[in-house]
Amino acid sequence: MKSVLITGANRGLGLGMVKYLINQNKAEKIFATCRNESQELQAIAAQNKNLHILRLDVKNTEFFDEAVSKISEVVGDDGLNVLINNAGVATKYTKLGLVKTEQMIDNLMVNTVAPIMLTKSLLPLLKQASVKNDEKPMSTERAAVINMSSILGSIAQNDQGGFYPYRCSKAALNAATKSMSIDLEKDKILVASMHPGWVRTDMGGQNAPLDIESSIRGIFDTLAKLGEKDTGKFYQYDGTELPW
Ligand code: NDP
Repeated sequence: MKSVLITGANRGLGLGMVKYLINQNKAEKIFATCRNESQELQAIAAQNKNLHILRLDVKNTEFFDEAVSKISEVVGDDGLNVLINNAGVATKYTKLGLVKTEQMIDNLMVNTVAPIMLTKSLLPLLKQASVKNDEKPMSTERAAVINMSSILGSIAQNDQGGFYPYRCSKAALNAATKSMSIDLEKDKILVASMHPGWVRTDMGGQNAPLDIESSIRGIFDTLAKLGEKDTGKFYQYDGTELPW
């Protein structure tokens, strides 16, 4: 891939993706956005001039165009190949009797509204990348939007209930994936939802079965195989297609 942007890249899966792309030499230019860069992310950027850190609270959609201008200056007329909407929040303890309005709004803002609005702002750069690579089939090598979803956003697989803010926000993100895939088909921009597995991060907790490295390796192996027939679908890190 020529260029990739990952939101929420200071820790957890976002940082893991940055590290993987750097270590495997998989991307020429990496944009890591975060509210506050971690020391680890800063240290990687100090060693790798192709890693660009941008400060971005994804709730502040009014700053998206400013971020796009900065990215545009770096990528020039190559555009941006891949946007990974990874930043996310998960409010716990939200059974029906306990759930609060603010929790619903916060999860929907970060997990649904922000990815949609950021994709909208980055659309000119994604389209530019697609045109620039028009000899390539629809793929992450051409232009793609990957929405980091969750199996908890699957309505078909919900057999536990609860988790209102998180489940609803990821189900809505999945709905956005489907719409984007239809809207961007003519531009040959691939769009997919990705469930990273249950992973040991601050969000996933220490009881999760998967380590960050295994999840990330699976995610990028899966992304590398996606083509025209896969746009508008929901995948797990190991390549399994998931039901909406
Ligand atoms: P973490 O809690 O470890 O990290 C979340 C990341 O999102 C942090 O970088 C955080 O930044 C960022 N973030 C949250 N709110 C904002 C905001 N307003 N603006 C910018 N960045 C923000 O989570 P994971 O790494 O585990 O999760 C990454 C993605 O994967 C999420 O979308 C999550 O829903 C999804 N996922 C994770 C699973 C797991 O088991 N871990 C399972 C299924 C899905 P900050 O440090 O500033 O808070």
